[in-house]
Amino acid sequence: MAKRDFYEILGLAKNASEEEIKKAYRKLAMKYHPDRNPDNKEAEEKFKEVKEAYEMLTNPEKREAYDRYGHAGVDPNMGGGGFGGAGGFGDAFGDIFGDIFGGGGGRRGGGPQVYRGADLRYNLEITLEQAAHGFDTTIRVPAWDKCDSCHGSGAKPGTSPVTCSTCGGHGQVRMQQGFFSIQQTCPKCHGTGKIIPEPCPTCSGAGRIKRNKTLEVKIPAGIDNGMRIRSSGNGEPGTNGGPPGDLYVEIHIKAHAVFQREGDDLHCEMPISFAKAALGGEIEVPTLSGKVSFTVPEGTQSGKTFRLKGKGVKGVRSGYPGDLFCHVAVETPVKLTDKQKELLREFERATTEGGSKHSPQSKTWMDKVKDFFE
Ligand SMILES: [Zn+2]
Ligand SMILES: [Zn+2]
Repeated sequence: MAKRDFYEILGLAKNASEEEIKKAYRKLAMKYHPDRNPDNKEAEEKFKEVKEAYEMLTNPEKREAYDRYGHAGVDPNMGGGGFGGAGGFGDAFGDIFGDIFGGGGGRRGGGPQVYRGADLRYNLEITLEQAAHGFDTTIRVPAWDKCDSCHGSGAKPGTSPVTCSTCGGHGQVRMQQGFFSIQQTCPKCHGTGKIIPEPCPTCSGAGRIKRNKTLEVKIPAGIDNGMRIRSSGNGEPGTNGGPPGDLYVEIHIKAHAVFQREGDDLHCEMPISFAKAALGGEIEVPTLSGKVSFTVPEGTQSGKTFRLKGKGVKGVRSGYPGDLFCHVAVETPVKLTDKQKELLREFERATTEGGSKHSPQSKTWMDKVKDFFE
C-alpha cells in the first residue's frame, strides 16, 4: 500500500511553518482520537497516520530528509538494509545511518562522497632462511603525487571542473527500484560530484600522477608463507580527500633444496648408507643455523625419523622454536665393482647362515605371506 504524503495527511503546503503543523495536528488528532471514535478501525488508522506525519515534520532532520527523498528518506524499512554497502548514505541520511552503513567512509558537509583508497598487494618472494631469521628489504611500490599542471583539480590549466548536473554535485543519485529507493554512486561523475569538461593533458584528468617509490619493509623472523605485512597508508589515494588505502606485502617462501617447512617444524630427508645404517655411527645434519652432528644407532631402518629439538623455526608468534625432523632413507649402493659385489655375496651367505634374526622385518613379512596363502 502506497504511503500518503505527510503534508497531504495534515492538509498542509510543503512550506508550512512548525506552528501550522502543530495546529493541523491538534485539530486532526482530536477528530480521529480513539477515545472519541471507539471501535472505529478507519479512525484509528487515520489517527496513527496523523501522529506519524506530525512526528516526522516537527523533527527538522527528518523533515529535511523527507523533503529530499520522500518516505524513503525517513522510513527505516526503506532504502537501508542490504543496500548500504559501498557508498553509505548521503546528506540527512548520513546522519541517521552513516555510522551503521558507512562502508565507504563518512560524509563531510554537503560535498561529494568521500572514499577510502583501495588496498594494494605486493607479492614478495623470500627464501626459507630469510623467513626464519628475518631481514630488512626495500621494495618499489606505486605512489601518487598531486599533478603539478592542474594542482590536483584534473582540469586543463585555465579551465575548472563544473558541478555534475546528474547528481547536482552530491556524487550520489537515488534510484527507484520497485518498492525500494536506493542510493547509488552517480554514473556520470562516479561520485566526485564534478565533471571535468577539458581534462588536464598531463594527468588525463586524474589530478594525480603515478610514480614509484621505495619502501623499506621489515620482515620479522619466523614469518610464514601467505602471511601479510601491512604498510599503513601506502595503498591507493582516497577520492575527494578520503584516506589512502593500505599496502599489504604478502610473503611467498621459495621451495628449499633441503627442508620442507610445516608451521614451526622443518622436515628433511636424510639418505644414509646401508653400512652406516647397519653399523651405526656419527652423521652430519644441516640445520638453518649450521651443521650439527649426531649418532645414528646400530640397526637404523629406512623411514626412521630423528627429531632434533629446537632446530626448526621460531614462528612470529611462537615462544620457542619448532623441531627438525630427519627422515632416514637407507640408500641401496649402486654401480658396484666386481670386488664390492663379491663382498656383498659373501655377506649375504653369512647372514643367511645366521638365520632370520638378522632381518626381523623380512621374517615377519614372510610369516604374514604364509598365513595369507594357508
Ligand atoms: Zn593534471
Ligand atoms: Zn554526478
